Amino acid sequence: MARRKATQSIQEFPLIRQLQRRYERRSPLIRKGIGDDAAVVSIPSGDWAVLTTDLLAEGIHFDLHTASPASVGYRAAMANLSDIAAMGATPRFLLISIAIPAEIRAADIHALYRGLMSACDQYDVRLIGGDTSASRRGLFLSITLIGTTPLGHALFRKGARVGDGIYVTGTLGDSLAGLQLLTSRRASRREAALTLVDRKFLIDRHRHPTARVREGLWLNQAELATAAIDLSDGLSGDLRHVCEASRVGADIELSRLPVSPACRAYAGRENLDPSALALAGGEDYELLFTVAARDEQKLERQARARRFPVTRIGTIRSRRFGLQSVDSDGTRAPLPITSYRHFT
Ligand code: ADP
Ligand code: MG
Repeated sequence: MARRKATQSIQEFPLIRQLQRRYERRSPLIRKGIGDDAAVVSIPSGDWAVLTTDLLAEGIHFDLHTASPASVGYRAAMANLSDIAAMGATPRFLLISIAIPAEIRAADIHALYRGLMSACDQYDVRLIGGDTSASRRGLFLSITLIGTTPLGHALFRKGARVGDGIYVTGTLGDSLAGLQLLTSRRASRREAALTLVDRKFLIDRHRHPTARVREGLWLNQAELATAAIDLSDGLSGDLRHVCEASRVGADIELSRLPVSPACRAYAGRENLDPSALALAGGEDYELLFTVAARDEQKLERQARARRFPVTRIGTIRSRRFGLQSVDSDGTRAPLPITSYRHFT
């Protein structure tokens, strides 16, 4: 993005008024949105409120040299939407706080909000407020998302039992491959060998991931999942959270990991193991969930009928086995401990 010297500073109140004018939308659930000391909303009676918040710091979580303000806003909203999806809840209201360094222009803030709103609009989520500050160094943004779910119905990390099937939605590793394509210094000849369509697909999966909100709602309502989590840090890291919360172990069958044709092509050209990309890659925002053995057929039938892509990738085992990978000839190894951290 264009950076300018720290001379011109954005004025807080005119900015807030502009943000309100451009990005606030009506809803019968909102009694008061932007413009008072706090927002007031209705939570449908008999519902639980489901709340999540995320803080993103420039240089730690995103880099404005490789990402546009619009894609930063979009991905920040999507990360929160994905957390609500993983609980099986309906996302509804969003608050965003920003600390703006002097060199950032109002146009960049609007681009960020446009990205944010394009993620929110996909799920009918309404902006209801936020906070605005100056920053001495770097852009900070914090998003809080409020969702709802019928009382007593939510998907937790805890709940997986020995013998449950382990499933994921979609394909894994695309976002990491896209990020590597964006940040790789050497514009290698191998990369040039990747078709433009594959390259675009992977970069788009990084810049414009989609949270699996509909799938989460289905899993929750149909009572088919015993535990769930969204894949933000990478399969091997996030599966570990489910196993710790549920006090179980897991076998992951490497040959079953769903890898897109584009990611497979990328791995081939970079001499990488596609299953390593699928295990380590973060920010795919797919869901990982577990299903009791007796429900697996029902789950797969319903997924087909709804055209939700789900793949069974392994089985929950007793805690004493830990987390293991099993390759196509049955060789076992401990699942690698570290998941890929994009910006550290
Ligand atoms: P306060 O001093 O009570 O924090 P503000 O002047 O910061 O009030 O906020 C006034 C209204 O504008 C509130 O409704 C607040 O939620 C909203 N608001 C402030 N900053 C933002 C922002 N960056 N994005 C959206 N809404 C905002
Ligand atoms: Mg304020």
